[in-house]
Amino acid sequence: MLHQNGISAATGRGTLGRYTGQVNPLRAFRRVPAHRRFLAGGGLAVVATMPLTGSAVYAVMAPLALASMTAMVLGIRWHRPRWALPWYFTVATVAAALLGNLLHAVDAGTGRLEWAALLLSHVRGPLLALGMACWVRQGLRRAGTIDVAIVALGAAMWWWSLIIEPLLFAGHYHGWQLTSALALTTGDLLVLVLTVRVALVSRIRTRAYALLTAGSAGVVLAGIVRWIERADGGTGNSTISVLGWTAALVLVGAAALHPSMAHTAGQVPAKPASVSPVRLSLYVLLILSTGALAAYTLTTTLRDHGAVSVPQVAVPVVLLCGIATLLVFRLSLVATLLGRRVRRDPLTGLGTLTLLREQLETGRPANGVALLLIDLDGFRALNDSFGHQAGDDLLREAATRLRASTGSAQLMRLAGDEFAVLLHADAAGGMRVAERTLRSLGTPYPVPGGEVHLSASIGLRAWDGRVNAGEVLREADVALDAARSAGGNQIVVYDAELHADRLAHTRMVAELRRALADGEFTMYYQPIVDLPTGRVAATEALLRWIRPDGTFVSPAQFIPLAEQSGAIVPIGDWVLRQVCTDLAGWYAEHGVPCTVNVSAQQLRDPAFATRVLELVAQAGLPGRALIIEITETALITSVTDAATAIAQLESLREQGIRIAIDDFGSGYSSLSYLRQLPVDILKMDGSFTTGQIETGDPRDIAFIRAILQLASSLGLHTIAEAVETGTQAQRLHALGCDLAQGYHFHRPAPVATLHTVLNDPARRADGVVGSPATAGL
Ligand code: C2E
Ligand code: CA
Ligand code: CA
Repeated sequence: MLHQNGISAATGRGTLGRYTGQVNPLRAFRRVPAHRRFLAGGGLAVVATMPLTGSAVYAVMAPLALASMTAMVLGIRWHRPRWALPWYFTVATVAAALLGNLLHAVDAGTGRLEWAALLLSHVRGPLLALGMACWVRQGLRRAGTIDVAIVALGAAMWWWSLIIEPLLFAGHYHGWQLTSALALTTGDLLVLVLTVRVALVSRIRTRAYALLTAGSAGVVLAGIVRWIERADGGTGNSTISVLGWTAALVLVGAAALHPSMAHTAGQVPAKPASVSPVRLSLYVLLILSTGALAAYTLTTTLRDHGAVSVPQVAVPVVLLCGIATLLVFRLSLVATLLGRRVRRDPLTGLGTLTLLREQLETGRPANGVALLLIDLDGFRALNDSFGHQAGDDLLREAATRLRASTGSAQLMRLAGDEFAVLLHADAAGGMRVAERTLRSLGTPYPVPGGEVHLSASIGLRAWDGRVNAGEVLREADVALDAARSAGGNQIVVYDAELHADRLAHTRMVAELRRALADGEFTMYYQPIVDLPTGRVAATEALLRWIRPDGTFVSPAQFIPLAEQSGAIVPIGDWVLRQVCTDLAGWYAEHGVPCTVNVSAQQLRDPAFATRVLELVAQAGLPGRALIIEITETALITSVTDAATAIAQLESLREQGIRIAIDDFGSGYSSLSYLRQLPVDILKMDGSFTTGQIETGDPRDIAFIRAILQLASSLGLHTIAEAVETGTQAQRLHALGCDLAQGYHFHRPAPVATLHTVLNDPARRADGVVGSPATAGL
């Protein structure tokens, strides 16, 4: 049953919908929207009126006016606009025009009804003006009002030159006729200004609005042409003015039939006071054209009449001065707006760096001010992985938390993820706010698909007013930098010592680059020993900085600085070159490989692997001669960096170069991560060796055992670092660790010393336990 129904319904629809190829023109016309039909029919009527003259014009105009009124009344009934008042004024305008024309026709030159017709024509303009005025409902903003006033004065200038001045001085009009003419044309000017206001100020761009504004413009056009002609002594019933009127009737009627008339309510959305380049050039054009027009009118009057009267000079001058004054006002509004933008961050609504500078410069209260500079740790990486939308949301959330945790303080976003808090407080008060802020910024943030943890670094500078604004900002920045480089999630208070540290830092970075150029670096080598046999299984290359006066600078001191400043890249390159040269001097004879420490920064350079292979090849070494040592934290910095690093390490391994994980067990090692890494050797962190291994602390022993087991099950070698005593060496060996380095065996030494060690036949007898030789490295 259901099935059958389905089929018959489908068949039925098929029959109904069959396209017969015949178009019913009437039905097609009905499908066209009402406003289009009105435009089409009205357009025909307008064209038909064009060749007509005299009373024949009214014969077409009257039905057109009637149709337009009907369309408006229907439109109001169909679409029920929320704001119908302007429509009623517009209907009344057309009604007045229609009635006036009818009276004129009935009067038929007798003059008995002419007064009533004239009265109606005087009512018409104000009615339309009222309608147009109502379209913009909300109070005008200042910028919009000035814009409209500028246009009004410009239009008034043209009006004066083209209509008013001829009306007054050409002598065709006198007495009450002149007064009436002036009133009528002023009404047209008013409509023009209000129409421009609708177009300029109301930002609702509906079809109904456009049609309505065009209709109003038609009325204005008709008025202008009519009065230019009349001022010159004509009748004012030229084709153009008739065209203006008829077109206006059609356009307004069509506007009322368009559905968008329902929400054509003329609201004024908040609009910034900025001026577009187009509008600015229009203003320039307006000034130039009105000026030229004034000059032209005055010179022709002088030429034709030999003299000008006071109003003929005064009116254009006053109008031009008015336009100039308004433009100055208008531009000052733009300047204010720009100033506000420079001081407000659009994303968070907080202040900007400009505002902070101003506040620091002007507000120097006696009881002190505290400045906090805040940076979100790891924001950049988050922005990269979650996208900028999530990043923006997070910044907004951070701004909200700042507002909550800082009370009445002034807040600024200086750049990216850097914020500033300026508060009236001493150092202790500043610290309390800083601690609260650190806690609130440290709670998780929602991101697409979960939440993230971010911490903050805060630099605090309590200010007693003795230093200048620029210094305060710089010093707070020094404190922030210190908080950041100490690993983030902390507050650093600025003090003189920090400043001195900072200076030493900057000096050291400059020194590092100079030391490289001046050849103050040298490589030391520390043997790595095969515990069962005591043979040198490998060596570790360790960088030394020896100043010209013979003092050593510890790598623990300068390597972190070199990494921060980027100097590690050229230094690391020098290290690799030097190691390859030195290694070539012993590898062929002894087959002892060398490990080189490589920092994360170097691995980030995509050309790193190529460079290493190039140096190895240049030195005539096989890949097996070199081992690259990296720390696990170097790899786990960010996902993208890790991908590049892993790819590079893999291409090195393909050439036989091996990879060692340095300081294993000291970082946040993730064992599952280790599975994915291209690794050959684990270097067990020195803390395991120097810890309680001698006393045999079961927990430490358990850890060492676990690392050794993990390594052997993954097929990796383990090297124990920092072995300082024979007991440590024996314990490690007993636990199954075969390779070790440390002061117990050899201290790091210049390459010449290494040669001596390698050539010493006794080194074979150094074994901790006299077991047979193992495979070594
Ligand atoms: P590291 O890679 O863990 O190097 C081992 C450090 O332990 C070396 O310190 C070495 O001299 C020291 N050491 C050796 N045996 C013992 C011992 O028995 N007990 C103790 N307590 N320490 C021992 P050094 O030479 O001062 O280097 C410090 C760090 O500087 C290195 O730690 C490494 O991270 C970095 N470094 C050294 N040379 C370079 C280099 O050429 N490039 C890079 N990127 N980093 C380097
Ligand atoms: Ca190392
Ligand atoms: Ca190490």
